[in-house]
Amino acid sequence: MRRARLLGSLLVLTTTLGCDGTLGVDAEEGIDEAAGAGRRAAASLQAQETARVCETGGLGLRQRTGPGLGYGILRVMPEGAATTILEGAGGWYRNRWNGLTGWSFGDFLCPAAAANEPAPAPNEPAPAPAPPAPSSGKVSLQTIVGGPYTLSQGYGPSSFYGGYGYCHSYGHWPTGQNVHCAVDVAIARGTPLYAGAGAKVIAAGGTPWFKDDLNPGAGELRLRLADGTEVIYGHTASVEVALGATVAAGQRIGTSGSAGTGAHLHLEVRVPGNCTLGLCTVDPVSFFGP
Ligand SMILES: [Zn+2]
Repeated sequence: MRRARLLGSLLVLTTTLGCDGTLGVDAEEGIDEAAGAGRRAAASLQAQETARVCETGGLGLRQRTGPGLGYGILRVMPEGAATTILEGAGGWYRNRWNGLTGWSFGDFLCPAAAANEPAPAPNEPAPAPAPPAPSSGKVSLQTIVGGPYTLSQGYGPSSFYGGYGYCHSYGHWPTGQNVHCAVDVAIARGTPLYAGAGAKVIAAGGTPWFKDDLNPGAGELRLRLADGTEVIYGHTASVEVALGATVAAGQRIGTSGSAGTGAHLHLEVRVPGNCTLGLCTVDPVSFFGP
């Protein structure tokens, strides 16, 4: 874009043809451009605003006696020069620089604030890395879902539709009672999810149990902790770890999805215990901490 503009400007320069046939430019001449050709739309400067000469490739910007290429060249303002805008017309700006006024093409005038923006320091030290997640133990539910959350469905007896038969099969929920043996965390689809503890991945998408409405290939992430505890992330939209992989507490493992009632994470914890299946569900909020 800028190259095209520069080439266009060459047409109005006093150009010389070098011995090798290349186009040479006398830097003293400065540049401007045929009005309308590739003009930067952002060149909307206000009267009394300070602008700086910019993007001239070091050639500088011409001040002319009027708003157009047909007017004579008064002087060349160097790249970076601060000039005061007086009025604008058709992409040209009458401006005052060093006490003298003239018209310059707006393509090469940047708002002073933008032009003054300091370049990023090349050797600025990188911010200190976040402290590593604890290698043993667990992280909080807030860490698992990456921030504050609300529960759309708590753990335990519930008037929520359905009997959750699989909950009853653990043996510590009376048959026939509507029960939700997990928590539903109301978080937006696509929210990153993190491992609640160091664990092995024993299900990584595509199971028939906890589907995602939009991505059947994802849907469930299941972790097994060293003590045999299983943690289920239900309705995941994406799975970012492989079956059999080992994950660390706090490690990103996928994103949350949606099912049935909307976007949420179904988080379920089953700890070894004297239940029918040898695993008993527990409240994930108590297990991980809020
Ligand atoms: Zn649920």
